[in-house]
Amino acid sequence: MNAPPAPRPRPLQVLLVDDNPIQLSLLRHLFQRHGHLTLEARNGAEALLVLATEFPDVVVSDCVMPLLDGYQLCRLLKDDRATRHLPVLLLTAQGGGLARFWAKTCGADRFLVKGRDLDHVVEVAEALAQQPASLRRGHQVPRLAQENFGVDAIQRQLAQALEQRLIETAMRDSIGRLYTVEHDTAKLIQGFIEILQELVLPGAMAVGYLGEEGVWCSGVHGLSVGPQDRAALTEGLAKHLAMEDPPECHWRPASDPEERRRGLRDPVSLVLATATPGYPVAGAVGILAERRAAEEYERLFEIAAEELGRLLSLEDSRLRLYHQAIRDPLTGLYNRRHILDMLTVELDQCGRFGQPLSIMVVDLDHFKSVNDRFGHATGDQVLSVVAQRMAFGLRKVDQLGRIGGEEFLAYCPQTELEGARALAERLREVVSAETIPGLPDSSRVTLSIGLASWSGTEDTAEGMLARADQSLYKAKAAGRNRVEA
Ligand code: GH3
Ligand code: MG
Ligand code: MG
Repeated sequence: MNAPPAPRPRPLQVLLVDDNPIQLSLLRHLFQRHGHLTLEARNGAEALLVLATEFPDVVVSDCVMPLLDGYQLCRLLKDDRATRHLPVLLLTAQGGGLARFWAKTCGADRFLVKGRDLDHVVEVAEALAQQPASLRRGHQVPRLAQENFGVDAIQRQLAQALEQRLIETAMRDSIGRLYTVEHDTAKLIQGFIEILQELVLPGAMAVGYLGEEGVWCSGVHGLSVGPQDRAALTEGLAKHLAMEDPPECHWRPASDPEERRRGLRDPVSLVLATATPGYPVAGAVGILAERRAAEEYERLFEIAAEELGRLLSLEDSRLRLYHQAIRDPLTGLYNRRHILDMLTVELDQCGRFGQPLSIMVVDLDHFKSVNDRFGHATGDQVLSVVAQRMAFGLRKVDQLGRIGGEEFLAYCPQTELEGARALAERLREVVSAETIPGLPDSSRVTLSIGLASWSGTEDTAEGMLARADQSLYKAKAAGRNRVEA
């Protein structure tokens, strides 16, 4: 049996723009052969005229043309709310340089090289016309076409479009720069708000973010925006982030003296996801602004939210990597390198303030036999439970890390040897008092612990560790399940 033929894409209406009649008829034939309808224009200005009355699904345009070239046409279309979602496919001449650069930066959805890629032009145009963004918007007449447009109007619009690009670039740049000076979620968000706040005033804006370290929410508001409007804004954020309750938001009144006299006449609120493609939505920007500002700055707000999403996911990855680098994955405790680094820093403080400090090295007794009798997986589980119990048994100021297979190091700031001995005895009890899930009720895990105290500015982390190890050896030799110093 033959496979059924692939379904034909629906017939499109394609606007072809080219000043070269031969090229134009070549394109016309290509598209018509695939069952599509074509409209034609000989330059960008003619294309705009066509768009005043026709609503094609996609524009396929040459770049270099008289009057209004392809890049300019593309800038104008992408700058206009009415036509921003109309896909534009640019056909560039062979050769690289600035032509390719402009094609990439003028906002075109795709560009193809004329001689080389022309076989794919129909296929690519069909794919662009199928994109959700281009299907979403209904037919709208471009802004230019609504005016009685001549060369002046086009030039004015072009200048505006270029200025808009410049503003967008500057905004991306200033938001991106935040990351080069700040590595702190709260400060990043604060910096972001400072960049955007002028655009929303006299309204308000807030950013909500669900990070590894919890929820962040902060905002800025004009003096005419009361608690109710602010609450509505944080509720909008909560809904967007699928949070049950609105986050606690740190609001700050804007300190613009002019702002005090203005009130909101026709406010609208919008919430934008701070999304980065490929990452889950972890944040949102809520904006309450005068309708005119919300429309005028819509594109800027979108760009800002996108850039913030990028920063936040960068920051998220950085934190994740940092946690991975300093923690032991099995127990979640600090790893050997990090606990020793922390100890070294702490000893520095001891030297400066002449305060005592003690350490303990903890080793599980006969742990090999746990593995031998119950398997390695159970052994792992035991290690993880014991680690939790020890962390629970220590004080807040004490720090605990895993320095070997079944060996742990804790340091206790401002603690003499005798204090540490009492703590160590408590640990021994906390760990062995109860059964451990996975082990029979009759078996207990016991600890041997060796202690050492800081002996003065000549002493080092390594020296202390060696002395605590010797004490541990003594505890093992004396029968295990005990503390030695
Ligand atoms: P002692 O009382 O003298 O300390 O006896 P012990 O059996 O605890 O000491 P030994 O150092 O001979 O053996 C330690 C055992 O710990 C050997 C190893 O299989 C086990 N071990 C080390 N790291 C891990 C781990 O990450 N998971 C598991 N399940 N076992 C580990
Ligand atoms: Mg052991
Ligand atoms: Mg050991």
